[in-house]
Amino acid sequence: MVKTVDVVVAGAGNAGLAAAAATAKMGLSTLLVERHNIPGGSASSFRRGRFEFEPSLHELAGYGSPGNPGDVRDIFSDLGVNVEMLEVKDAFRTIVTGPEGYDLVMPVGIENFVYAMEKAVPGSAESTVNFFKLAGDVGRALGYLSSGQPDPAVLQKDHINFMKVANLPAGPVLDALNMPPKAQQIIMTYWPYMGTPRGQFSFVLYSLMVYRYISMSAYIPKNRSHDMSLALEQAIRDHGGEVWYNTEISELLVKDGRCYGVRTRDGSEIHSKQVIANFYPDRAFAGMTPPNETPKQEVKRANARTLGMSGYCVYLGLDKSPEELGIKDYSVFINTTPDSDEQQKGMYTLDNNDFFIMNCLNIDNPGCSPEGTSILWGTQLFAPGVWDQLKPAEYKAVKNRVAKKIITAYERAAGVKISDCIEEISTATPVTFARYLDTPDGSIYGYHGVKWDAMLPRIMGMRGEQWIQGLRFAGGHGARTMGYSSTYINGYQTAQLAAQEIKEGR
Ligand SMILES: Cc1cc2nc3c(=O)[nH]c(=O)nc-3n(C[C@H](O)[C@H](O)[C@H](O)COP(=O)(O)OP(=O)(O)OC[C@H]3O[C@@H](n4cnc5c(N)ncnc54)[C@H](O)[C@@H]3O)c2cc1C
Repeated sequence: MVKTVDVVVAGAGNAGLAAAAATAKMGLSTLLVERHNIPGGSASSFRRGRFEFEPSLHELAGYGSPGNPGDVRDIFSDLGVNVEMLEVKDAFRTIVTGPEGYDLVMPVGIENFVYAMEKAVPGSAESTVNFFKLAGDVGRALGYLSSGQPDPAVLQKDHINFMKVANLPAGPVLDALNMPPKAQQIIMTYWPYMGTPRGQFSFVLYSLMVYRYISMSAYIPKNRSHDMSLALEQAIRDHGGEVWYNTEISELLVKDGRCYGVRTRDGSEIHSKQVIANFYPDRAFAGMTPPNETPKQEVKRANARTLGMSGYCVYLGLDKSPEELGIKDYSVFINTTPDSDEQQKGMYTLDNNDFFIMNCLNIDNPGCSPEGTSILWGTQLFAPGVWDQLKPAEYKAVKNRVAKKIITAYERAAGVKISDCIEEISTATPVTFARYLDTPDGSIYGYHGVKWDAMLPRIMGMRGEQWIQGLRFAGGHGARTMGYSSTYINGYQTAQLAAQEIKEGR
């Protein structure tokens, strides 16, 4: 069977859904193809007993309030996506155990944050204010870069602060801002979301994330991230697009340097003017394109990149309410060291990984579980390959050991007792994510945003660096790097580029 459309989108993760909704809305005939029977990829939900768990999303950045909308809210409203969203009230609680430790709740709102930081680290206010000013400049410059063909003269003239830090890692910029070490540690609390060493990961990316969370609060969907995926899927259909589930793309059809469609695992062909792939370039260039049509540059680039972190989650349904348990915080970041480079080293091991985040969904989503119960989930990051060291026979025991370690460490650090009221428990490891998402090594974060492969060079390359015409990638591995908001934006922007090429007849 051969079907012909303007755009085929391969994979219904956040970027695939946003891309397909956008091309359909622009009037292009669009087909979204997903190997599972539901949309969302990481953005989903699952049920155990009386509990519906959120598998991934802790916090959505860039959504904002109706009066102060962020780019994700703007994209959703442009696509006609309606989801009930809830504001995350505090930024985070950070607990570092041990002699150099601290236990702080940091608020949202830049002024509030600066005030709380000054209280925790006297003398830090000026550098924290300057951090947010710089982060605001970075956000404005990225808005300019994403809006069209950037003019270097405009960048030099209007975005000089951005140009100064554009290619620098976070560590040296925080040093240059004269931020006291403890304030740096506190502001780096979100760092493990990125999983790249402090001295390597892009200041642009990091500051943007902190700025967006603190200045406009984070948001979560009332009915788990599955609701956002369903609403995007509905938008695709409302705009005349089609969605095929249980259909895996096995080949990209390429001839004379041009991608003209895809082949599905069952042998059907879908011909299109543009293909948007939501899976990793590693996958595409390791057997999905004909060998004589596989550009060496793409293979080199895929090989040169470093895969980002994978995750481990323990999901807990408890038969007591947060009030009964004395839990007050939505997000608690727990560590035995304030040094993010030390945290990072632990992520390369199975047994010395002490960092994790514990979330209690009921705090910011009170009706999320039956009365008198609560939903908690702990998340740890692991470097690619760490779980590959395990023999199959060891897997179950290690998976349970990590769950126990997280639960015990949370009880000790936060001073609450949860282990005697667990009604449901479920775990997901890098192996689970590799199997479900089909990402290399179970990466949930695309590629590390290191200097040559940070957000800026990726955005700058979005328009030009295409070795196979008609084929674009969008996802956590894409130009905006990983994360919910990044992938929605990346999918949406990739759709605009694909539509422009179709319009120009290229
Ligand atoms: C545990 C966890 C916690 C996280 N926490 C946060 C957070 O708090 N905040 C945040 O912003 N981000 C968070 N993230 C990251 C965020 O979820 C991801 O960056 C984002 O969802 C990735 O979207 P994506 O578009 O790359 O698609 P993916 O989620 O990777 O989905 C890709 C889709 O493509 C499909 N597919 C793959 N290959 C094929 C094929 N050959 N044919 C057809 N379909 C195919 C897959 O089945 C899947 O549905 C978290 C992720 C995880 C796993």
